[in-house]
Order: sequence, then structure tokens, then C-alpha cells
Amino acid sequence: MSNSQLVVIGAGPGGYAAAFYAADLGMQVTLVDPSVNPGGVCLYRGCIPSKALLHVADVLNEARHADAWGITFGAPTIDVDRLRAFKTKVVNQLTGGLGQLSKQRKVTYIQGTAAFRDARTLEITRSTDGGAPAPAGGTPELLTFDHAIIATGSRPSTVPGLSIDSPRVMDSTAALELPDIPKTLLVVGGGYIGLELGTVYAALGTKVTVVEMTGGLLPGADRDLVNILAKRIDAMCEAVLLNTKVTGMQEAGDGVTVTFEGEGLAPEAKTRTFDRVLIAIGRRPNSAVPGLDRTRVTVNARGFIDVDPARRTAEPTIYAIGDVVGEPMLAHKASHEGRVAVEAIAGERVAFEPLAIPAVVFTDPELAWCGLTENDAQKANREVVVARFPWGASGRAQTLDRVDGLTKLILEPKTERVLGVGIVGPGAGELIAEGVLAVEMGATATDVRMTIHPHPTLSETVMESAEVFFGHATHVYRPKKKS
Ligand code: FAD
Repeated sequence: MSNSQLVVIGAGPGGYAAAFYAADLGMQVTLVDPSVNPGGVCLYRGCIPSKALLHVADVLNEARHADAWGITFGAPTIDVDRLRAFKTKVVNQLTGGLGQLSKQRKVTYIQGTAAFRDARTLEITRSTDGGAPAPAGGTPELLTFDHAIIATGSRPSTVPGLSIDSPRVMDSTAALELPDIPKTLLVVGGGYIGLELGTVYAALGTKVTVVEMTGGLLPGADRDLVNILAKRIDAMCEAVLLNTKVTGMQEAGDGVTVTFEGEGLAPEAKTRTFDRVLIAIGRRPNSAVPGLDRTRVTVNARGFIDVDPARRTAEPTIYAIGDVVGEPMLAHKASHEGRVAVEAIAGERVAFEPLAIPAVVFTDPELAWCGLTENDAQKANREVVVARFPWGASGRAQTLDRVDGLTKLILEPKTERVLGVGIVGPGAGELIAEGVLAVEMGATATDVRMTIHPHPTLSETVMESAEVFFGHATHVYRPKKKS
């Protein structure tokens, strides 16, 4: 039996950030995960591989669009094996780097899975490179700990009663493996994962259909922003079926026959066959950690582990962070929670209480927001002023031939404080960081407008949105109302 001051279960962006920080603070740390190196979903089958492929999609789309500027490239030749190899190289480089960082910090990394024996002891079953349990059999190793952090993440949800066992029906992990470039693909779910992966396949030449149960893409996101993205998604896809449900799936020769139920669907559109289907209807927390019932840790009705603001569970020796404790299921939220949990374990009085957690959808155009949204304000009956700056008025957007963007600030009228920021347009994911800083620092519209932004950049749209609030944005003329 060995002992560790802190053991972190799961080495995704929550787990490895926590383990590394704890080691930096001088704790003796063990990190357990089934993969050969740290990385978790984000690096192996989420954020990173999807963004590598989305970069390629951007290049393809830009090359096609160049025709409008008098530059015509021939049709692209796509070597799927080399494209897959590029994506794998990126993943291996980053996860290998995390393995190195782990060694440099003297974090004991165990490739295996952990189960609780009690509130101070784990049973660890070592696994092989593929993440499968090692064939050795025998009894698992015991590891006692002063504190544990559960960072076991989440996995793709399945369509209840519908999923069929067919390689043609993929989840996000399978789709990121790029088995081929299908002629047709049905994406079930109009959330960010479905739209990002749909964008990749559409750029590679697949005819993509998106089916979404609710009345709009990206349910929950700001409609001002989504409406702009939706136009591009419409143009990119063969069809976008809203208010439509998948009611059945069946393997049929070289494809999958799917039946739909939805408003206004023509009879012939109620059944269609696709080469492949991607199910992207959300993710479920991995809270069923074996042996958790031998501790006082509790799990709520939605399957998330209950935690207090310091990320402590109902069992004082055990903390939990990341996707397994709740929405938003995002890597940066997991990492931040990891740092809070470690500081709490180190004896500091801390709480995870961010004013703004940015969310980015890496489609074309990108969509990003943080802090209060217009929707939130309406629901909370909170008075706000919305200052919008359309990218048609941005010099930089014109030079990029991408005027289909919008930047908006949500402001408190009395204090002029920036409560939230929403951006749609290329690079929105990079631009939103300024919004997060503004919200977290309690910046006012005056602070933002008085901050000199470089010209010509898209960041000026943030500054000019603040000017819109005062009614004198340089590049937007609003005639004064006669009193
Ligand atoms: P995870 O990354 O899920 O890691 C948990 C780890 O714990 C896994 O390695 C798992 O194998 C391991 N584990 C589980 N049970 C045990 C056990 N009993 N013992 C030991 N180990 C265990 N987020 C973003 O912020 N930006 C993006 O662009 C983005 N893109 C995404 C794209 C896709 C296709 C997907 C699927 C997700 C994306 N996400 C993105 C979400 C992001 O990946 C997650 O929010 C993030 O990985 C959560 O981190 P985590 O540390 O909570 O857990």
C-alpha cells in the first residue's frame, strides 16, 4: 500500500491543472488516468483534435471564398490519412508534453482507473496503452490519500432507445477519427459539438444535414449572434431541420435509414438514408466512479457530483471539479475549478465564483459570449442596455471580406458597468478574452471606450460598441432624436 498527500482521479484539463498546481505548491501528488499521458477528453477526443480539423476546414473555406477576390484555386485533393496523421501529431505532441511536465514536477502518474475503497483509500487497476485494463488480473493496488480530487469528466450522451450498434453511427470521438469522407452525413443535435464537426465534414466535401429538436441552433445561446451564424450554416448544409426529432434508425446496406418527425416535413422527407450519422446530443457526467457509494459523496438528479463553492463534496477529504460537477462543460472552467480546489486543500479560503466563463463555438463564423446575456437579463427581469456594433462598420472586417459579424455589450444603465459581451464573427473566440477581463474587473463602458485599441483590428469593435452605448461611435451614425 502506498500513500499520497493528494490523488487526482482523471487527467483532463481539470485533473492535470489541479495536479500540476498542487505539485507547484509543494504537495506530493498522484494523478490517475487510463491514458498513457495526461490530456483527458479535451486533448485526446475533444477541444484539440476538433480545432486542428477546424483549422483545416477554415483553410479550405477560405480558398473557396478567394474566388470572389479573383484568385481561383483548383478543387482540393484531400488525403484523409495525412489529415488524420496531422491531427494525431498535434494530440501526441500536446499529451506527450503534459507527460513531460508531469515528470518534471515529480507528479506520480499512474496509467489506470481508480475506485474508492473508502473515504481515504483508492483501489487502482493499472491499464495498458490503449486505456484497457491490464490483463494481469490479480488484486488492484491500494493507495491511501489525505485528499482526493475527482475529475472524471463526461462522455457522449446517446439517443434513448434509438442508437443502433453500427460503425456508421458515430459519436464525437468516432467522428474525430475521420474514418472516411462520407458523401452524406446526418448530424443529430444542433449544439456546438454537432455544428463544429458538421463544419469539418462539410468543408471536406460531405453533404451535411443537421437535425435539431428545438426551434433553433445552439439552444440557449444569444439569438442575435446565432441568427448570423445560422445563415452560414444554412448555406453550408444540405438541410437544417429544426423542430424535428429522429424517431428511428436502421442500418440499410451502405447507409443508415433515419426516420424523422417534425413540423412541416414533406412525406418524402420523413425517411432518408445517410452514409453516416453523428449523434451529438450532449454529454453525461462520469459520476459513477466505482465505490463512490462507500463515501459520503452525493450525486444530484442530473448525475453531477454535489460540491460547495470550494469544490468540496459532502465527504471532507474528497473534492470534485470539471464536467463531473456541472455546466458549462468546458475545459477552462474545469482547469479553473481545479486551481480553486487545490487552494482550498492548501488551507486557503477560496470559492469558485467567476463573473464570466467564456463560451466559444468554433464554427465559421465563430460565436463567443461571456457574463450576462440578454436572455439572462430578461429572465431575471434585470434592466440592461445593449450596445451593438455591426461589423459592416469595421475596417478590419471589410479587409477580411467578413462583414457578417456583430459585437454587443450588455451594460448596466446606471453604473455603465459591462455585465456581458457577445461576439459573432471570425476570431470571436480570441476577441472574447477582452470581454471576460472587462466583466471580471468591473470595467465600465467609459473604461472600454477610453482604452486605445489597435487599428485596424476586430478588437476595435469592442471599443466602438462602448461608444455606441454613449451614442457617438465613430463609424456608426445615429441621427439624434428631435425632442
Ligand atoms: P475530461 O477531459 O473528460 O477528463 C476526464 C478523464 O478522467 C478522462 O481521461 C477519463 O478517462 C478519466 N477517468 C474517468 N473515470 C476514471 C476513473 N475511475 N479513474 C481514472 N480516470 C478516470 N471545451 C472547451 O472548453 N473548448 C472546446 O473547444 C471544446 N471542444 C470540445 C469538442 C468536443 C468534440 C468535445 C467532446 C468536447 C469539447 N470540449 C471543449 C469540452 C471539454 O473537452 C471538456 O469540458 C473537458 O475535457 C472537461 O475536462 P475534465 O477535466 O472535467 O474531464
